[in-house]
Amino acid sequence: MFKKTIFRKQQLKFMAFNLIAFTVIFTIFGVIIIGQVQRTLYSKSDEELKSFKEMMIVHPSKGFESPLPDEKMDRLPPYEERQRDRPNPRIIVLKWNKEGKIINQNEIGSSFYESFIQDYPLDKTNIDTITNTTIHNQYHFRYLLFETTDTKGERTYTQLLINTEAEQTIIDNFERLIIICSIIFVILSISASYILSRKMMMPIIHSWNKQAEFVENASHELRTPLTIIQNKLELLLTEPQEKIINKFENIALSLSETRRLSKLTSDLLTLARADSAETQLTKQTIDIDQFIQRVCAPYMEIAESQDKHFWLNLNCNVSMEADEVRLHQLLVILLDNALKYTSDDDSIGVKTYVEDHKVVFEVSDTGIGIKEENMKYIFDRFYREDKARSRETGGMGLGLSIAQWIVTEHNGTITGFQNKHKGTTFKVKLPK
Ligand code: ADP
Repeated sequence: MFKKTIFRKQQLKFMAFNLIAFTVIFTIFGVIIIGQVQRTLYSKSDEELKSFKEMMIVHPSKGFESPLPDEKMDRLPPYEERQRDRPNPRIIVLKWNKEGKIINQNEIGSSFYESFIQDYPLDKTNIDTITNTTIHNQYHFRYLLFETTDTKGERTYTQLLINTEAEQTIIDNFERLIIICSIIFVILSISASYILSRKMMMPIIHSWNKQAEFVENASHELRTPLTIIQNKLELLLTEPQEKIINKFENIALSLSETRRLSKLTSDLLTLARADSAETQLTKQTIDIDQFIQRVCAPYMEIAESQDKHFWLNLNCNVSMEADEVRLHQLLVILLDNALKYTSDDDSIGVKTYVEDHKVVFEVSDTGIGIKEENMKYIFDRFYREDKARSRETGGMGLGLSIAQWIVTEHNGTITGFQNKHKGTTFKVKLPK
């Protein structure tokens, strides 16, 4: 129950983070696109305003002086001349005196002036910067206001207005589209966040369960020898006058359980350090065949003492970079298992060779073997095919997990398979 609440809370947190991230990304994306569209659409009008202003500075009379003075009305000047006088028909030129009154009404056209410009006030806040404005809260323009002087040397203001109705309609439509898309994206991202947060929780739940299982198994494994030791010691205490020789069995059992405890705690510590990535490998150059020969030497004697045949087939005349202590631990795990799970007259062998430019060593035996369906579990922590037998032989199901960790740390692979006739082979492949 408590576990479920924690998971739910964490999932909600992930979901909220994902949603915020999606929303921020969409918003930034939308703002950038709208800004870019606005800039592109207005760039032409802005260019026109700027070049008109430059033209007016060079020829102050052009642009706002009537292109068609009365005496010329009957005789139209040629097109080129008219164009030079009034180079841009989109631009309306307003000339203001310093009191904010328009002084070129007759050039604007009286009907246009009366309908639109009459109550339009002069706003001096944005001098020399191109700005948006609306006339009658309805018609969109961009304007450029700059200071000028009239013939008497009095300060005046010139305002160049350009109609941007078409651009504004495109921008409004685009903004609407982006808002609709953003709403759809946010709705979609709620579902996406939910799915993603579930996916993100999966490995966490998996490792939580694994960790809980590990702690449960470890405590169980620790409790059994502790109970045995406690019982035996209590039994000894009930008869303090007894001689050690008479209680030999109890003492020997307690001692063997203590050894078991010590091995278990050291294995647990290795795995805990492996999990926290605390253990670093100390690599050195190792002559693999020589090394294997050295590690196997005591096992040959043990095998002989147990009437088992031990063979070596070393064909790997190369050196490799590896952590000698860990590699030794790996071989000991595999050889210990081979001895544990074989009986008299069985054979145990170690073979080395090079395959795909990698060093390979195989530890095989003709022992009891592992059932095909259990092969996939043998590297799991605390997995034992036959719990009773494992306990008898001192096995706790941690050896192969440690072996796998050592191999992975060396960027290699370890596989176990059944032999054709009888027994098991473990094949370790390590890069040179
Ligand atoms: P244990 O300490 O129990 O041997 P391991 O992790 O080393 O733990 O091995 C896990 C299980 O894999 C063992 O309990 C045993 O069932 C099986 N196993 C490992 N090596 C061999 C082998 N050479 N022959 C048969 N079974 C093996």
